[in-house]
Amino acid sequence: MRKKIIAANWKMNMTQAESARFVESFLRDLGEITDVEVVIVPPFTAIAKVIEALGRAQNIKVGAQNMYWEKSGAFTGEISAALLRDLFVHYVVLGHSERRTLFGETDEIVNPKVHAAHEATLHPIVCIGETLEQRDKGNVEKILSIQLRGSLAGLKPKELQETVIAYEPVWAIGTGRNATPEQAQEAHAFVRKTLREMADDATAERVRIQYGGSVKPENARELMSQPDIDGALVGGASLDPRSFVQIVKAARER
Ligand code: PEP
Repeated sequence: MRKKIIAANWKMNMTQAESARFVESFLRDLGEITDVEVVIVPPFTAIAKVIEALGRAQNIKVGAQNMYWEKSGAFTGEISAALLRDLFVHYVVLGHSERRTLFGETDEIVNPKVHAAHEATLHPIVCIGETLEQRDKGNVEKILSIQLRGSLAGLKPKELQETVIAYEPVWAIGTGRNATPEQAQEAHAFVRKTLREMADDATAERVRIQYGGSVKPENARELMSQPDIDGALVGGASLDPRSFVQIVKAARER
């Protein structure tokens, strides 16, 4: 049984004070949660504050929104996996569609980052997903296959098992328009089938595949009741602790 994983991607939002208030509010409601894995992904500037506010609540994990693949050195403006581990970060989101479209990230850039994350025992959350144009042309499976095989190339089965995939159709991110549970399940089943081809059955069964794209309290339960949807990567709705708590609670209801 795969444990559901819900991540709050705050993007370029949340000051230190706002982050601390969010964590305090979340802990009041769901501080003891262990049946769902919760990951908070603040901007770099609020990571230390979130970890401080979490205190002894080590059941809640912290992620980063990006990193560079080199270990250290003259790379102004970049952050390494080792520097994230030094802050007690557990997860790192890689290849988010905003990084792909706004900052030119490709599978060739994402792949060494995924390897560097594993080397440093950081768990990557690797984002993939098609644009509306690609969907309309009937190319969803082709795009997902290219992105999966490109960004995860060369991973050992154990590393694959410790990688989270986020299926995020680009047309659903920040638009208020989510994929239907059937559309999402179809894509997730295809991702799992591709993982089976890339590794083996046991590995593919263990990989957690999150859905992302306008997840909110109203649609979370139905999306996460699909057999291959193992959680959610939540953007907009994760900025409000009450909405986020409701989404996490929806993941508990099987
Ligand atoms: C995201 O940032 O990964 C995302 C899915 O955003 P939103 O929930 O706002 O669509």
